[in-house]
Parts: sequence; C-alpha cells; structure tokens
Amino acid sequence: MAPLVKPSLRRGWRDLNTVQFGMTPAHALTLGPMDTATGSFLDLLNGTRGMELLREEGRRMDLPDGHVDALVRRLAGAGLLDDAKGGGPAGDTLRRKKEVLDRLRPDLASLSLTTSEPGEAMSRLTARRSLRVQVRGAGRVGSMIASLLSAAGVGDVDVRDVGRVEPWDVAPGGLPAETVGDRRDEAARRTARRCAPDRPPRRGPHSPPGEEATGHSLVIIAPRDDVAVHAPSPSAAEPLVASGTPHLYAGVVEGTGVVGPLVLPGETGCAGCLNEGRTDRDPAWPRLVAQWRSGSRRAREVRPCDLTLATTVAGLAAAHALTFLDGRVPSSAGARWEVSLPGLTWHARPVWAHPACSCGATEKGEGEHPSEEGERHETMAEQRPSKELRRRADAERLAGTWRAHV
Ligand SMILES: [Zn+2]
Repeated sequence: MAPLVKPSLRRGWRDLNTVQFGMTPAHALTLGPMDTATGSFLDLLNGTRGMELLREEGRRMDLPDGHVDALVRRLAGAGLLDDAKGGGPAGDTLRRKKEVLDRLRPDLASLSLTTSEPGEAMSRLTARRSLRVQVRGAGRVGSMIASLLSAAGVGDVDVRDVGRVEPWDVAPGGLPAETVGDRRDEAARRTARRCAPDRPPRRGPHSPPGEEATGHSLVIIAPRDDVAVHAPSPSAAEPLVASGTPHLYAGVVEGTGVVGPLVLPGETGCAGCLNEGRTDRDPAWPRLVAQWRSGSRRAREVRPCDLTLATTVAGLAAAHALTFLDGRVPSSAGARWEVSLPGLTWHARPVWAHPACSCGATEKGEGEHPSEEGERHETMAEQRPSKELRRRADAERLAGTWRAHV
C-alpha cells in the first residue's frame, strides 16, 4: 500500500489544531485535534512511499512510536485515504496504459470523493470497463448519453433505434453532421465508440458474469418521440421488469426535460406504477394518452427539443446511470427529475410503487402513499443523502472526526 491523502479534497487549517479536508458541504470533513508535526507529516502521504518508509520518516521527525500507523488508520477510517497502488490487477493494468488513464484522471479523482476504502476509486473505475449498457433511442438525448457513458469508461455501450440520421438529430457530443443519412443505431454506436478512452474489451464466452436475461447492467430508455417520454409505455418495459433489468428513463417533451425514474424492478416504481398513479389523480389521463399516441403515429413534423435542454438531460441522465453502475442508488430511483424552460428549476416528482401494477414493487417498497404526497415537489437543493447512506458514512468515521460546517 502507498497511502495517499485524497488530493481531490483541498486542505486548510480551520485553527491551530483542526484540519479541514474539502471545500463543499457534500464532501468536506474536519479532522482534529492534530498537532503541527502530524500536520506536516500529511504532506508525506502522497502515494510515493510505502508504510515502512513512512515509519522511518516518522522516527526522523521524532513522532512517537506507532503514531504513523495510528494516523494512517485514522485517515482511512475517515475515508480520507487512498492507495496509489490500489485497485488490484485491473488497477495495475490501467496504470500501465498511461494515455488511457490520463483521459480518465478527473473521473478517478471524482470517484475518490464518493468511495471510502483506499483503492476503491480505482476498483470502481476499472469495473466500468466490464459493464454492458444499452441505450434505446438515438436522437439528441440518447446518442449523447451513449457517448458520455462510453467516454466515462463503460466498456460496452450498445444503441438501438430505427431509421436514418436526420439533420435535426445532430448535436455536439452526440451524432455529428457527417452521419446525416446513415443508419441511426450504427452511427450512434460508432460515435460512442470513438469517445471511449480505450479499445473495447474482448468478450469471453462466459462474460459478462452475473447479469440478467438481456445481459445488460442497465438499459436507458431515451425515446425521440415526445409522447413516449411523457407517458412511457408500461408494456414496452414489461420484458425489462420480468427479467429484473434496471432501466432509466430520460428525454425531452415540449419544453420539459425528464430524467427518471430509475426502475429497480420489484423494488421501485416502474412505468406501470407511474401510469396507475397518474390515472388515480386524473381520470382523463388514459384518454389523453391514447389520443397523443395515435397523433404521434400520424404526425411527421419535427418535435420541439431545445439543444441545451437535451444536453442537460443527457448529462444528468448519464450521471444518474454512472452513479448506479458504480454501485450507488441515485435520487432518480422512484422519482422523475423534471426541468422546464425558461425558468430551469429542477423538481423531483415521486413515482410511488402502485399496488395495481404487476411489477411487485409495493410488496418490497414502502407501499401505497396518500395521493397528496404524490404531488409533493422537491427541489434539487433539498435533496439529501438517504438516512441509510448517512448512517454508513457516519459509522465509517472514527472518533475525533466529524463533518465540517461549511
Ligand atoms: Zn410497477
């Protein structure tokens, strides 16, 4: 192990014996009491020395016996320590491919903020390479999501759609202008592959392991059709629910961008639950949806899709997808994040598990909720990590460390 105080967190002294790691309330911590000698020793924990060498340096600086080990343990317990040699054999392989790692350095540094064990950030980053994700829909939003996930290191990004690229599908970060007239799905797959920092992984006969029927860790549903964004079809998602495949909805409808829900089949509300909940609140909902759908089949006109809104939705959807793929549950599980032009205030609308839906989420989830709660809005600023995550983070911290008040 080559201990490294996470460089992602900027360090500052709050007073003579309290160090603050990090600037923002989401990830900042204070550590104290800490004497000046120990404080200057922190500079040596930069990933270039192993434990033996660090103990030697400690003796040279007249730090008491065992002090270095205790400090390293304390930092690790507070989630402030990384291992410059961590991440196992996959980490070693990535470190040997310098040009690939250089592309992903900011992402690795960011992962160090949301992981606690030394070396865990590298493990998460390299794990992305073995993941398979499918994006359904290759318009402005879908093609950009595919490119973003591929650029973030997801090894296999498949894109499904029909037809050929139209001039209005083109977007920076998505389909380039020279693909107009090409097959949409092929063009989007090719574009995503070009964004990847590394060559695609080779697939063995048994890989990828531990996945469900569709073989994908996550399916992202990003329809070009605005009715499908607003009123996702429960029957289209049935095979995904039946096979237990997690899926995430994203898209633009009129002047509104939508990210979510992330459906964890049998655990969180799905498209069927969403539809049932809306019908409870508005008896005219099924009649309207039927009209919109039949209009959508007839109409040939170009639908509204603001370029910057599509980019925003693609970015946030890819971030929610990555959070899930990295092993955490983002706030889109059981909720739709919505943002509308021109005010651009984000709201989360809960998607409760519905007892009339066959997905079974009510049995596992919190059950039925009163309808007035269904109308409850939550702005992004009010979002806090779940109690469970907070408890875990608190348990990981040793005595003498606490969350900074910044
Ligand atoms: Zn459901």
